[in-house]
Amino acid sequence: MDYALAILASAIAMTLIVGGRYLLSSGFFAWITVRTRPGQYDKLKPQIGREIRWSLLSAAIYGVPAGIVAWGWQNAGWTKIYTDPEMYPLWYLPVSLFLYLFLHDTWFYWTHRLFHRPRWFKVAHAVHHDSRPPTAWAAMSFHPVEAISGAIVIPALVIAIPIHVGVLGLVLLVMTVMGVSNHMGWEMFPRWLVQGRLGRWLITATHHEKHHELYRGNYGLYFRFWDRVCGTDVGLADLGSGFSAAGSQRVRD
Ligand SMILES: [Zn+2]
Ligand SMILES: [Zn+2]
Repeated sequence: MDYALAILASAIAMTLIVGGRYLLSSGFFAWITVRTRPGQYDKLKPQIGREIRWSLLSAAIYGVPAGIVAWGWQNAGWTKIYTDPEMYPLWYLPVSLFLYLFLHDTWFYWTHRLFHRPRWFKVAHAVHHDSRPPTAWAAMSFHPVEAISGAIVIPALVIAIPIHVGVLGLVLLVMTVMGVSNHMGWEMFPRWLVQGRLGRWLITATHHEKHHELYRGNYGLYFRFWDRVCGTDVGLADLGSGFSAAGSQRVRD
């Protein structure tokens, strides 16, 4: 019984942390958007309300597996999270960062493609695409089914694959910043990066916005690898001229 209470307390604490992280990160990028692009979110107030409500529900869902695994890390040695950076060769630090991002991206790509099948789309993914165009507040705007599929990834990885606690923090930072900035409706990375050699493999707002415009293609999370390998990469949106009218094309895979 004590265990159950401690795990429940951990899940509640994690929910508050994930929810607080969402409000701070989305709030920060929304604030920059309003400051630098006055009017961009003006007509989207009812939509932003929906995005925040779905996102806070998702935060509660993300908090449960995260809370259980955090408890197991501290009390039962369930995870392969380590604190001494020299426990593995130092080259493993960047390798584990890349490995975590690649595996998360792989899981996201294939589940995202599944969610675009008509039956799944209606049940699990229409909520996320109700944001037209998405805003910084849409970062966690998911139906609970989609939220569950996202919430289990990092907890599963820390049980299976060793990671230094600092690198795990970096993974969560990348996940948070890219989740928000990919939806905020403008590109924060320089043109030379987005349209250059590196941009052919990395996903930023310009790439994910195209997914929200077309309702198909560009299914990846961090890397364009699977989209390119599977022929689902549909290129970059034109964020310079704002969200294009192509959003009305409801084309699905
Ligand atoms: Zn989608
Ligand atoms: Zn999205």
